[in-house]
Amino acid sequence: MKFADLHLHTYFSDGTFSPEELAGHGQRLGFAALSLTDHDSVEGCARMAAACGAAGIEFISGTELTAEHNDTELHLLGYFVDTQNQKLLTEMAGFQVVRQNRIREMVAKLNELNMPLKAESVFALANCKSPGRPHVARALVKAGLCKSLDEAFERFLKKNRPAWVPKAKMSALEGVELIHQAGGLAIMAHPGLNRTDDVIPALVDAGLDGIECFHTKHSTATSERYLEIADKFHLLVTGGSDCHGFSKGKPLIGTVKLPYEHVEKLKAKMAERQLTTNERQ
Ligand SMILES: [Zn+2]
Ligand SMILES: [Zn+2]
Repeated sequence: MKFADLHLHTYFSDGTFSPEELAGHGQRLGFAALSLTDHDSVEGCARMAAACGAAGIEFISGTELTAEHNDTELHLLGYFVDTQNQKLLTEMAGFQVVRQNRIREMVAKLNELNMPLKAESVFALANCKSPGRPHVARALVKAGLCKSLDEAFERFLKKNRPAWVPKAKMSALEGVELIHQAGGLAIMAHPGLNRTDDVIPALVDAGLDGIECFHTKHSTATSERYLEIADKFHLLVTGGSDCHGFSKGKPLIGTVKLPYEHVEKLKAKMAERQLTTNERQ
């Protein structure tokens, strides 16, 4: 049996592995295909593609965007996106600025709570263009202000905790469109985490291509529910570990093994789309 992990993060967003380390873990675990889905970034894709190529692993370019629909936050995975697509790169640069400003706001709130953390130390630790809450948590631990990442999230950073700052998000319909115009497939990430079932029909109308049925935090029953929903709406099925290396506890790569037949279906959809695009031209 061939397997894939289509949801992975590196240090180009809030993971701790380099693309090469991640490809090495993928090889050790026997994966046939991997995708890199850093938040608001495709920066690591070229190195990941090279590392996967050297390891004999098929690589699928990807990214993960944060979006909302009717006040419900959701994450969109974009697979096979053109990593040189100008509009995608421009939009992502904007999202990265939003992320950096959010870090400053969270640090300001922490300072008001007498936690003497500097935004610069978070940026230095993050050392990437897409910093996020896990970086703030790590900086708090590194500065000796919290004992663990869990404590940092529980006391300060989780939604509605005192240093939490809401994130400005694009609309999910725009997100689907952005991924499509960059030549990719738009997939709703971990619907079981965001409780986004109600918004699925609207996104399907907007052209959503699939849903991530298999995820580390989906129970078997949850995966089965989304497989049924995927079937009902004729959606593609994806899955991945959402591994962030050591930034959210233990590395998760290997916990989800997506049967390769789903990768073949993704590729068939891409081929079908290219065919219709060519016919139109
Ligand atoms: Zn996510
Ligand atoms: Zn993710």
